[in-house]
Amino acid sequence: MERKVKKIALIAHDNKKPEIIEWAKKNKEILKNYSLCGTGTTSKRISEATGLQVFGYLSGPLGGDQQIGALVAQGEIDLVVFFCDPLQAQPHDPDVKALLRIANVYDVAIATNVATADLVIHSPLMLK
Ligand code: PGA
Repeated sequence: MERKVKKIALIAHDNKKPEIIEWAKKNKEILKNYSLCGTGTTSKRISEATGLQVFGYLSGPLGGDQQIGALVAQGEIDLVVFFCDPLQAQPHDPDVKALLRIANVYDVAIATNVATADLVIHSPLMLK
């Protein structure tokens, strides 16, 4: 069943937080039309920087990626914006991999860099 308001999950590793904050600021007028959630620190930082309401789950390393993965599996997320750090190993690498995997299992859009997130957020398919 199609939900009325699409739901976007926002996650960024520490070195990528400045990028997701800039991306959220740049796209604030678009993002305000969606239901937003994210991992703990990412959601808090985006809320502070933009004034957007972003529901915060646990911090990524403490299970937040898994919580968002569960939402993906339940069909509750339409787009994951996940700026992962390709240059640094994360303590929760298995969770990162699991989130990428579950998004692919359920064919849920997952943008892992700014270029992809820009294309997806402007896609007319977001309005369907
Ligand atoms: P954070 O988690 O937003 O709580 O920092 C992100 C992550 O590292 O997965």
